[in-house]
Amino acid sequence: MTQTSPSQELQEEVSRCKEAIAPKLTQIQKNIQTLGQKNSKGQSAQVLAVTKTVGLAEMLALYQLGIHNFGENRVEIFLDKVQAFKNFGLPVTWHYIGRIQSRQVKKIIDHIDVLHSLDRLSLAKEIQKRASHPINCFLEVNVSGEDSKAGFEAEELEEVFPLLGQYDKIRIVGLMTMAPISAKEDDLHQIFGRLRQLRDKWSAQNLPNGPINQLSMGMSRDYPIALEEGSTIIRVGTYLYQDLN
Ligand SMILES: *Cc1c(COP(=O)(O)O)cnc(C)c1O
Repeated sequence: MTQTSPSQELQEEVSRCKEAIAPKLTQIQKNIQTLGQKNSKGQSAQVLAVTKTVGLAEMLALYQLGIHNFGENRVEIFLDKVQAFKNFGLPVTWHYIGRIQSRQVKKIIDHIDVLHSLDRLSLAKEIQKRASHPINCFLEVNVSGEDSKAGFEAEELEEVFPLLGQYDKIRIVGLMTMAPISAKEDDLHQIFGRLRQLRDKWSAQNLPNGPINQLSMGMSRDYPIALEEGSTIIRVGTYLYQDLN
């Protein structure tokens, strides 16, 4: 395939985006250093840039600023962006963070490096059928018990982990959660702390489809608290793009 470079116009847009985004990344890195000490066992948290609301200019800016982990949640847009970065010849680690319908699995699974939203057994079964290599997955856990949230209940994991053991295309790298928008600071500490305890418990089991080491938690509005509770990968979107336009 012939490689394409970004056009002159796009490159100018990229420079503008870099100026707006760079200070945000600096602030996030500072928070990772200062807040991520207590519960992280010396592991420094990774930044997953959620790019679902932005285009190639912002993504190229992030890329040039050293962020090579992107998170998307819409199938068609995700596939377009994967293709675009392939054409640029730029290797990206692609994270999928949205709900996947079973009929969509075949189309996207082999383009996903890390799936953050493994939220039901029927999805695991479909991935097993369609993936041509093992997929790194976070189990999404509905820690807060909020009805509208996807994911497994914490109590369900006892049954779920043994069943997932039969799927050699599913590698469980950790647990993921989303906190309710309305959650106050105390609630957030409780929710993220609970996910950490669950991770510690399941990590200690040394399951064959693990290691279940990571914690995908924290978004723009709550990532500092997630860091305090030991997040190993924060999923940040809105905050990065605040000073654009
Ligand atoms: C959109 C999204 C994010 C990022 O949210 P921001 O508030 O924009 O930082 C993180 N995780 C998931 C699952 C999302 O859908």
